[in-house]
Amino acid sequence: MCGIVGYTGKRNAKDVLITCLRMLEYRGYDSAGIAVVENNKVRVIKSVGKIDNLEQSVSRYDLSTSTIGIGHTRWATHGKVTLENAHPHKVGKVTLVHNGVIENYKEIDEKLNKYEFKSETDSERVCALIDSFYNGHNEIEAIKKATSLLKGSYALGIIFEGNNKLYGIKKDTPLVLGIGTNEYFLASDISAFLKYTKEYIVLDDNEIVEIGNSFNIYYEDKQIYKKIEYTDYDLEEAMKNGYEHYMLKEINEQIDISRKLYSKYINDDNFSDKLIDFSKYKRIDFIGCGSAYNASLIAKYFIDKYCTNANFYCNSYMASEYRYTNHYFDKDVLTVFVSQSGETADTLASLRMCNSEGVDTVAIVNVLTSTMAREAKYVLPMLAGPEICVATTKGYFSQSYICSLLVLNLMYKTGLIDKDKLLSIFDEFKKLPENIEKVINQDYKKVAKSIYKSEDIYYIGRGIDIYSSFEGSLKLKEISYIHSECIGAGELKHGPIALISKDTPVIALLSEFSVAEKTINNINEAKSRGAYVVTIRKESINVDKKLSDCDIVVPLTNEFIQNLLIIIACQLLSYEVAKLRKCDIDKPRNLSKSVTVE
Ligand code: GLU
Repeated sequence: MCGIVGYTGKRNAKDVLITCLRMLEYRGYDSAGIAVVENNKVRVIKSVGKIDNLEQSVSRYDLSTSTIGIGHTRWATHGKVTLENAHPHKVGKVTLVHNGVIENYKEIDEKLNKYEFKSETDSERVCALIDSFYNGHNEIEAIKKATSLLKGSYALGIIFEGNNKLYGIKKDTPLVLGIGTNEYFLASDISAFLKYTKEYIVLDDNEIVEIGNSFNIYYEDKQIYKKIEYTDYDLEEAMKNGYEHYMLKEINEQIDISRKLYSKYINDDNFSDKLIDFSKYKRIDFIGCGSAYNASLIAKYFIDKYCTNANFYCNSYMASEYRYTNHYFDKDVLTVFVSQSGETADTLASLRMCNSEGVDTVAIVNVLTSTMAREAKYVLPMLAGPEICVATTKGYFSQSYICSLLVLNLMYKTGLIDKDKLLSIFDEFKKLPENIEKVINQDYKKVAKSIYKSEDIYYIGRGIDIYSSFEGSLKLKEISYIHSECIGAGELKHGPIALISKDTPVIALLSEFSVAEKTINNINEAKSRGAYVVTIRKESINVDKKLSDCDIVVPLTNEFIQNLLIIIACQLLSYEVAKLRKCDIDKPRNLSKSVTVE
């Protein structure tokens, strides 16, 4: 959840740490802190709130000579958001920052009765545990002994008083070593140090890195040598580039991402062999959390509609459920894991469960250095570039695009569509960038003004629009804090219509011609109870002007990507509503981008 950084080199450590932490703020932002070594003493500075507050606190001290330190931006799991609970934690000679959750921290606490703890965190107990094994010069040994007693997940950045080195270790949550010229970085994610270097090494579980004038990596008593990798991620890509919010920038980037996805997965008149061929299997399980789960429902929807038969079917599961239910696995089953970060705890645990069952696994991920990208048998890169806004837009877009391509590939391979049909569908994929531009260029402010004061907003739809509603409604609640539900339009009169009264906004999605008339009947029912109706529809479905108070029209395209145009309209509407409500759009309260805890 939270972000950790470490630095040692020739620059001023506090400046580098703050710069790096800003790039990780998307991972958590309830409090932050740094620890730097000044004249052989460790100085810890923390503050509640975002990195801006930390920067102000830090400016009160003269830390001009420190060139080594660690930093943290927190998303609390153990203990409230207070200064005491903020990281770094210092116990005895050990100071550390921690990302993760230590499940047996209470047991550890009971054994460490010589320590008085200042915080409620699991992390401070880990700090004390390392200190309890430390004799003034056995840093690696102390880390190893302490971590061998931990249950749970951790990425740790550690400094020892009197020793001018930086240490890192991880398990089940990411940690990357950045390698510059005579300077080194530790971070939860490479975007943290992109400003300084593009060279890095991804640490694997229980490897310990020791960084001084150079670095050494150890695994189980031996020094190991790992390949230095290079990222072509661009810092510019990870910055706002003149947009008011990352969210708006990322919505606009969907134009370009659709081009990138097209050229990776489609070769003029056929699918690229980089796409997985589903036709070899009899059952496909999609697994994800949040928006990634919503995207996987798009695949299930089209497979149910066109490909299911007695010998082939597909299901989508919430990873938090999948990992705790029983499944029958054999060589005919393919499991597909969807996660932007590639670190989502429940999805990763499900992937590991499937790997251990020997079943084929695919990861649809954005971060190619992630654990899922390394552990899955096959990887389908999302090509979305760094996504900074906590609420996903381009990530969902890319996942949903890939899901549609996977189904189309299956339909083509199994003869459900012929070459001519395929080529006409590809033409629509080619036109997608210009159609997205048309959707983006519409005015959403006017519609937003008419609904932003409401405390409840309902999404309705049928067919694929139900699944787009899931995502539209989630986007709205994530960033505007308005209570929102999505209701299958046909379900409205089976209960939820009781919630509709005068001026309750109902957003109806209309992209399925075959059920449009039915949805329009449901709009009528809502309207008769006083609803304020917003329709988001494809061009060819007409709605009586009297029924729709605000009408948003997206261009007509092939059904496999029509939902992408509909969802972009929903994203922009949520964005404008949140802006009018003066919400912190890129960093919504209580959320974190990469959910690395259960
Ligand atoms: N468990 C630690 C805390 O609550 C770290 C939180 C995290 O990684 O999200 O402070």
